[in-house]
Amino acid sequence: MEHIRCLIIGSGPAGYTAAIYASRANLQPIVYEGPQAGGQLTTTTEVENFPGYPDGVEPFQMMDDMRRQAERFGAEIRSGIVTKVDFGTTPKRVWIEDTQELLADAVIVATGASARYLGLPSENEYKGRGVSACATCDGFFYKRKTVAVVGGGDTACEEASYLAGLCQKVYLIVRKPYLRASEIMQKRVMETPNIEVLFEHNTLRLTGEGKVQGADLVYRKGEAGEREVHINIDGFFLAIGHHPNSDLFKDWLQRDEQGYILTQPGTPLTNVPGVFAAGDVADPHYRQAVTAAASGCKAAIEAEKWLKTL
Ligand code: NDP
Repeated sequence: MEHIRCLIIGSGPAGYTAAIYASRANLQPIVYEGPQAGGQLTTTTEVENFPGYPDGVEPFQMMDDMRRQAERFGAEIRSGIVTKVDFGTTPKRVWIEDTQELLADAVIVATGASARYLGLPSENEYKGRGVSACATCDGFFYKRKTVAVVGGGDTACEEASYLAGLCQKVYLIVRKPYLRASEIMQKRVMETPNIEVLFEHNTLRLTGEGKVQGADLVYRKGEAGEREVHINIDGFFLAIGHHPNSDLFKDWLQRDEQGYILTQPGTPLTNVPGVFAAGDVADPHYRQAVTAAASGCKAAIEAEKWLKTL
């Protein structure tokens, strides 16, 4: 059975940064990429706030840069999904695709977070047929069409702005009477002529024959003036936040009520010695590429310390 010194689960900014530091420290890290190589960032359009890229950078480019940087120092990046873990022993036991078992002296969990859905039955019905949680991935299919984006945060505003460049019209469906996004993103949305912001609207259901053709919304649900509104749309994009990808570890690692892995404040140390958590899976507050990268660095440094104790 393969015995790894340092296993890194996940390939976003946290995972790759951990791999850069771990490989430079000669920990011979193996990275399992998980279901989305490059992580969540690859589902956005442009990264404008990562230091070192004054003109912004295309997310795939940035993640490819990080990956190549890790490989340059000897990190091995493998495609594959970790499906089961046993952190009750040292070395830790880990299964890839339920079949292949590995042993790892140190494990860095950098599995990130995934897009949330509203939970409407019609969302499932139309998934891949007009429902998407990634404008960059799927926006192209809606050229010159009409789409809706749900959410009022930075992601929703970014996705709406991106789609406005491709589509004839974009509705932004916001449940509150205001946007939560940063000032700059709010301004961008409000100044884009083909974005219409529908404040205080919630989605009831999607409609259409075999694909999304419309949505029934409710304005001011449960309040005076409540009324149903129908919009004709070809695509429906979710941008209502994310949930941490931590279910795999629930029997071993302490998590908060939302599922974020609990770490000792300011460190990547989990309740299991030799298991470290980095990036969005353990960060309910900042969730930025740069903070994820920084925590990946900390995790690799802690893994190095741990390995010296074995
Ligand atoms: P947020 O949690 O910031 O926003 C989620 C949005 O979805 C909120 O407006 C929320 O409404 C809404 N929402 C949640 N659940 C529902 C629901 N069931 N029905 C309708 N609306 C719902 O998530 P984001 O993904 O936008 O951002 C996450 C983090 O990443 C933030 O810190 C953000 O600043 C950052 N980010 C930064 C970017 C950049 O700098 N370029 C780009 C993208 C993200 P409500 O306000 O009512 O709670």
